[in-house]
Amino acid sequence: MKLAFIGLGVMGYPMAGHLQRKVGAVRVYNRTAAKADKWCGEYGGESAPTPAEAAAGRDLVMLCVGNDDDVRQVALGGSGALAGMAPGSILIDHTTASVSLARELGAAAAERGIGFLDAPVSGGQAGAENGKLTIMIGGEEETFARAEPALAAYAAFSKRLGPVGSGQLAKMVNQICIAGVVQGLAEALNFAARAGLDGEAVIETISRGAAGSWQMSNRGETMLRDEYDFGFAVDWMRKDLGIAMEEAGRIGAELPITAIIDNFYAEVQQMGGGRWDTSSLLRRFTRPS
Ligand code: NAP
Repeated sequence: MKLAFIGLGVMGYPMAGHLQRKVGAVRVYNRTAAKADKWCGEYGGESAPTPAEAAAGRDLVMLCVGNDDDVRQVALGGSGALAGMAPGSILIDHTTASVSLARELGAAAAERGIGFLDAPVSGGQAGAENGKLTIMIGGEEETFARAEPALAAYAAFSKRLGPVGSGQLAKMVNQICIAGVVQGLAEALNFAARAGLDGEAVIETISRGAAGSWQMSNRGETMLRDEYDFGFAVDWMRKDLGIAMEEAGRIGAELPITAIIDNFYAEVQQMGGGRWDTSSLLRRFTRPS
């Protein structure tokens, strides 16, 4: 199988590496060419100077860039991926983006006889590096069936949730859940500290019961150590919550808690924490007033 991967960031770089090692020949494109050169040196693939040239003649073309506008820049237009792709090939967007963008890309792909899947991921940098991501898919069943064996190179689990756009909607559900859980954990650890409890001992105890969560197990101790220089950046979370709140307005779903937590994340950004992990909500409670 011939593949292309566009966007070698924190997520895309290792994902493209898994494809090259487990599935087939990967041609990469990255806006900053030095990263593509580094990737080729590490994995032995080839790189191209534009997304269209990377995508030309490939069976599957994966994207993982920043936001809606970034996806438009690498997918559409004369040098975008779709311009290089042949009918019968499939474009897969792993970027966390809006439903309207997914539908726009789906329509642009369909006009050219190209399949499209919106396929945002969860599992973070560690999931990408270990090849253990969860992928939420929107698109035709038949398109997913053709792409799934390749996606398995970096996914522990992938599932089609409905037509184009459904993957992005499921990712919004994912981010709404995470925001609430992280804020609950931050409030709880702040309460424990002010009550004079040993935070580590409390986590060791309550993580075994109904209060336990992925966030408690994977972030509780680093929060207690005030360590946030890793993980999923607050800037990305604000992008994702913004997408979710806009969609909520469209479909009439109330997100009162999510809206409050989004404001808390804005405060973390003002504290200089745009690149801190999302668990840095705890720092709001300890910042000097
Ligand atoms: P990142 O490290 O900032 O990488 C972004 C990649 O996109 C880089 O390769 C960048 O190229 C490229 N890019 C951005 N804008 C571009 C543009 N206008 N034209 C061409 N290339 C462009 O981001 P990431 O952490 O890999 O995240 C990528 C996506 O996955 C985001 O949508 C994010 O929300 C989502 N996601 C991230 C995580 C996580 O834990 N990091 C988890 C789940 C989902 P340059 O190298 O030239 O900058």
